[in-house]
Amino acid sequence: MRPERLNPLFVPVTNLAGVGPKQDKLFRYLLDRSETPRLVDLLLHLPASVIDRRARPKIRDVVPGTVVTLEVTVDRHRPAPPGRSRAPYLVYASDDTGDVLLTFFRPKGDYVERLLPVGTRRYVSGTAQMFDGTLQIVHPDRVVDEAGLAKLALIEPVYPLTEGLALGALRRAVAQALARLPELPEWIAPDVLRRCGFPPLAEALRRLHAPQELTDVLPDGPFWSRLAYDELLAGQLALALVRAQLRRPAGARHAGDGHLRRRIIDALPYALTHSQQQAITAIAHDLTQPVRMLRLLQGDVGSGKTVVALLAAAAVAEAGGQSALMAPTEILARQHHKTIAPLAEAAGVRVAILTGREKGKERKTLLARLEAGEIDLLVGTHALIQDDVTFKTLALAVVDEQHRFGVRERLALTDKGSAVDVLVLSATPIPRTLVLTYFGDMDISELREKPAGRQPIDTRAVPSTRLNEVMDAVGRALKTGKRVYWICPLVEESEKIDFLIDAEQRFASLKERFGDRVGLVHGKMKGTEKDEVMGRFATGDISLLVATTVVEVGVDVPAATIMVIENAERFGLAQLHQLRGRIGRGSEASTCVLLYREPLSEMSQARLRVIRDTTDGFRIAEEDLKLRGEGDVLGTRQSGLPGYRIARPEVHAQLIAQARNEALRIMKDNPKLAGAEGESLRCLLYLFERDEAVSLLGAG
Ligand code: ADP
Ligand code: MG
Repeated sequence: MRPERLNPLFVPVTNLAGVGPKQDKLFRYLLDRSETPRLVDLLLHLPASVIDRRARPKIRDVVPGTVVTLEVTVDRHRPAPPGRSRAPYLVYASDDTGDVLLTFFRPKGDYVERLLPVGTRRYVSGTAQMFDGTLQIVHPDRVVDEAGLAKLALIEPVYPLTEGLALGALRRAVAQALARLPELPEWIAPDVLRRCGFPPLAEALRRLHAPQELTDVLPDGPFWSRLAYDELLAGQLALALVRAQLRRPAGARHAGDGHLRRRIIDALPYALTHSQQQAITAIAHDLTQPVRMLRLLQGDVGSGKTVVALLAAAAVAEAGGQSALMAPTEILARQHHKTIAPLAEAAGVRVAILTGREKGKERKTLLARLEAGEIDLLVGTHALIQDDVTFKTLALAVVDEQHRFGVRERLALTDKGSAVDVLVLSATPIPRTLVLTYFGDMDISELREKPAGRQPIDTRAVPSTRLNEVMDAVGRALKTGKRVYWICPLVEESEKIDFLIDAEQRFASLKERFGDRVGLVHGKMKGTEKDEVMGRFATGDISLLVATTVVEVGVDVPAATIMVIENAERFGLAQLHQLRGRIGRGSEASTCVLLYREPLSEMSQARLRVIRDTTDGFRIAEEDLKLRGEGDVLGTRQSGLPGYRIARPEVHAQLIAQARNEALRIMKDNPKLAGAEGESLRCLLYLFERDEAVSLLGAG
């Protein structure tokens, strides 16, 4: 149960004045939540910069292009002449050193008359510009009288925004949230507070959202750092609590004699790569240890992680245990199942699939078989963690692309057995510092080599002005029986930008040209529909597949050898690499065309160059790091650690170590989080929503 004093922070933002259903949607998007954000989400949305209105020059001394607050007398108005509504409404104002023109486009009603009555003194704040030799402020941000000046925030926070949400609306919401901040206990130990010079939490939040100095909102300043430390401590403490649960009861060992593994390997149409063999050996070793396995299997797209996962499940099955393989999407789950089923069958490992689509009688029968121990490996989506899914003896949980799942899901899965071993699959090359922060102390296996016989991919960057040529080339390729992916960026409703072609539009135009050979798959389609289309593409019934990034991970159609990516400059490097990984999977040479829209920023040019020059995921991740900073490697929206909103690895690396040490200290001194210290730490865990870990405390 969440400590009661935190409740005011978990009230939905729609509870605030001025935040209605329309803003709800915008706030969800901005704060990256699928449900209505709470005040806590708003308070943890920190400013990106500030506007400084403290400069108060005389008109003569104004530096054009800067933000100034001028004290002026209003001299006269010149409304737009009748019939010329596009002409601006001009207000002439002055001080004893010169004149300034205040310009308004299409003001409503008598807005300007009321704002700037002739003859009055006003304080006007905004960006000053020189235009036709005259000093101007176009649409001043603030116009106040003497009384208003006293209340004017001279330093204003500027937040990351989303289209449709005005800065002012966001500021007003944050200010209300700040006013409702409850009294909270201090959870940072006194000596850490002293050593790091952290201010109290409430002060940190106030100074970030209502800055008094320009430096108040800097990520390496004391206020931001305090919050970053809180967040890191919550994360590290949660990991430590999970880790403490990982000891295996004596006698429980999860690997058999190898007979099933041998049969699978014999049935493989290829030889395992050296690193696949190493990974399997390491896993088999883990499974016989007195400590539970917590291993990350990291391998570039196409490096062959699925078969390693299957062999791990086989080892567990040899010892009479069951395994679960959970993937983040339906397509991925089916893909795994498709790869695994024939091999498993050949070896006598019983495999089944469970997603949201298995329903009714079919599902019931499946669950009964699972509970009776008649299924050795259950592949599926989130559906695996539903309450009524019961294993007889779940011994191994394999989680694919885990950064798409939360701790909650991982725990929910491992809770379905006792002393469950965990294998995490990831195609994202994660720097070690991040692994530590995100996963805690995990063992790591890397698949660094590609399976033999893969051909390099020829990647070209082509401006979108040459779209027609690309279409012609695609047409020729289709004639020779090639299979082609055509990727369009996902268009969020809140970012309808004219030049973005969405998948449906492109589908229509390609279909007009190439007819029934063209298919479409996107995230809004139902699972069955997606599979149907993917299936037809795999068999060659469709030879040109228009898709959004739903094909990003895992989809395996080795016969596809061409990929066109539209608006490639809009994708992250990791994402482009993942996408491109869908081709170059067979023995035939492949081509990837990155269509970009001119003009390209320098950053975009550099990024497309990286993708063009290498297909090595580790190198791409490194370049990505250099170009964008560590936080974005996992594709998180803003710079930050995955699952972390405030801490930034490039700024707070020191604090990660601090928080880790402190979490270990707490686990040693007060592992049950008892007493007053424990109570405030629980508050911390709830505040940053690491409260899944609290439930472990009860389990003993
Ligand atoms: P990923 O690591 O991206 O999940 P997959 O496990 O989907 O990769 O494997 C990609 C493809 O490579 C599959 O078609 C799989 O059958 C094949 N594959 C896996 N291991 C090898 C190998 N050692 N030699 C040849 N092909 C392999
Ligand atoms: Mg895969």
